[in-house]
Amino acid sequence: MAEKTGISWTDSTFNPWIGCTKVGPGCDHCYAEALMDTRWHKVQWGAGQQRQRTSAANWKQPLLWDREHEAFALMHGRRRRVFCASLADVFDNEAPAQWRGELWALVKATPHLDWLLLTKRIGNVRGMAPAEGLPANVWLGATVVNQEEFDRDAHKLLAVDASVRFLSVEPMLGPIRGAPSIGAFDWLIVGGESGKAARPIEREWIDSLHDQCAWFGVPFFFKQWGGPTASAGGCVLAGAEVKEWPVAA
Ligand code: SF4
Repeated sequence: MAEKTGISWTDSTFNPWIGCTKVGPGCDHCYAEALMDTRWHKVQWGAGQQRQRTSAANWKQPLLWDREHEAFALMHGRRRRVFCASLADVFDNEAPAQWRGELWALVKATPHLDWLLLTKRIGNVRGMAPAEGLPANVWLGATVVNQEEFDRDAHKLLAVDASVRFLSVEPMLGPIRGAPSIGAFDWLIVGGESGKAARPIEREWIDSLHDQCAWFGVPFFFKQWGGPTASAGGCVLAGAEVKEWPVAA
């Protein structure tokens, strides 16, 4: 939806459609629902509700970013990263398959962009990816918020062929012991929950995950502590910002 984004690990966001259904504890305080349903009444959240496709003008934005890739690379020394989708889930089985097909065509038509697809439905990816596999410019991520979700989903992500495979542990709701499979990932993002009803994160959970990533050489991106107020949510870990990126990025 926007050229600039407040999400610190991406440059831009693109939402092909809006709307979703909650699928786990990580969705309890879904900000997209709070914004798009509760506040702006743009869509109704949940099972059986129609997803809303974004405008044709919005769908043209990535083409523009792709055309501007040389200027972007000159300024930043790397390719533009596009997070798709912050207000939906690309692998939502209630989103029309045709829209997803058009999204794959757009991803292929923008080879100078890196598309970050983060899902809470990693088990759906194999059946919803293009028949020939994910385009080379897709970074595929799965959200896991606790040990149960790691044990359930980490191997599903590793079963999919993607240029970059990453885990997003946000909001982190419990400790995770990921060894040895954690070493197979290209990147790990961690963050605490923010907002009035934020569930607290514990320092030792983060330290443990950080140690596990360091041991296996997995780049670690600490996004935020989270908490009920913005001032409580800084991103300094052990006195420094830890913001690492996949090696190939
Ligand atoms: S998957 Fe994401 S967008 Fe969908 S309900 Fe959960 S938190 Fe919200």
